[in-house]
Amino acid sequence: MRIHRKRLEEAIETLGRIGATSNGGLTRLALSDEDKQARDQLVAWMQGAKLRVSVDRMGNIFGERPGAEALPPVMLGSHLDSVPTGGKYDGQLGVLCALEAISTLNDHGVRTRHPVTLVIFTNEEGARFQPAMLASGVMAGKIPLEDAYNARDRHGVRLVDELGRIGYLGAEPCVPRPMRAYLELHIEQGPVLEEEGLSVGVVEGIVAIAWSRLTLRGVQDHAGPTPMRIRRDALVAAADVVRAVRAIPAQVSPETVATVGRLEVSPNITNAIPGKILMSVDLRDPSDEYVTRALELLDRAVRDAAAREGVEYEIEHYWRVSPTRFDPGVVEAVERAAQAVGGGYRRILSGAGHDAQYMAALGPAGMIFVPSRNGRSHCEEEFTPMDDIEHGANTLLLAALDLAGTA
Ligand SMILES: [Zn+2]
Repeated sequence: MRIHRKRLEEAIETLGRIGATSNGGLTRLALSDEDKQARDQLVAWMQGAKLRVSVDRMGNIFGERPGAEALPPVMLGSHLDSVPTGGKYDGQLGVLCALEAISTLNDHGVRTRHPVTLVIFTNEEGARFQPAMLASGVMAGKIPLEDAYNARDRHGVRLVDELGRIGYLGAEPCVPRPMRAYLELHIEQGPVLEEEGLSVGVVEGIVAIAWSRLTLRGVQDHAGPTPMRIRRDALVAAADVVRAVRAIPAQVSPETVATVGRLEVSPNITNAIPGKILMSVDLRDPSDEYVTRALELLDRAVRDAAAREGVEYEIEHYWRVSPTRFDPGVVEAVERAAQAVGGGYRRILSGAGHDAQYMAALGPAGMIFVPSRNGRSHCEEEFTPMDDIEHGANTLLLAALDLAGTA
């Protein structure tokens, strides 16, 4: 049994037009008019595939294909929202491959033991409402519903009001659901599969992540009359920290990554010595111990940089997630499926967070990666070749069938 390539390709094109940008990308922020249009399209397709459609209080959409027995479902899903000027593959490809897998089961009149349910999660990206993976976080009981409802976008608009406005404030409680398994196909967002000429990544888990917030306080003063010898420049200390952060991975492990992504300079004018800096540090590694080691190196680098420039500092390690290990049974089912499909594949770890991370707390979960051209994502250039998509979708189909069992 194989998916219908042409149908999937057409669905990718049709959905990709909703929120399309002039350079071939996508802007479809969570709960925007474009998101509503995309949701409506999916609901229509799900109804066309005879799925029982329901919506929960976070606007997550479910489409159930009943099983032969009263058993928990195999859930297949991803998200429809994008970042601003993002691409047409992140999220929506997982949703469409899941729908295609279910349609293929319909085409062949397959009766599975477990139901197979398509799930579309609200606000995965965190581009409009923070944090990311908000609705799967609520479902997993990690984020209170009230907090999610009160999340506001940059214009002060509340998430719950937008859910209501676009007609996706559902009645079903957003709580953990029993499930046989959760499977998510997603673009890799990194270069590994493409570099190795492979079509499919059998994802074993998601790396550990630690976020830190650093404040450096120097002495704000005039850029002219203040001699160099008495300066205490917060930005100079920050520059040392940026360099030091860049050097951390080489001292920890080949898989460690470290990023300063955000820098706020005060007062941020030409003729004043910067008095205060806020900066972010994002550290990731497959191992918790190595993340701890990286945090120690960060602390030391900050202390040294601050001492050299004579500035004060505060550092908060405010968010940390342990690595997610996907269920070995699901990983093996995906690997068997990839093998049966016949394209090149390898086991891989995800460096990015996904809804599957929260779902893994609720039951057996796993993911399937397909390549990202030049490793790029969250940009208009995001692209995955159709041959790889076909291999990925077939892997999803066969793994879902394996986990759902046939009646
Ligand atoms: Zn995504």
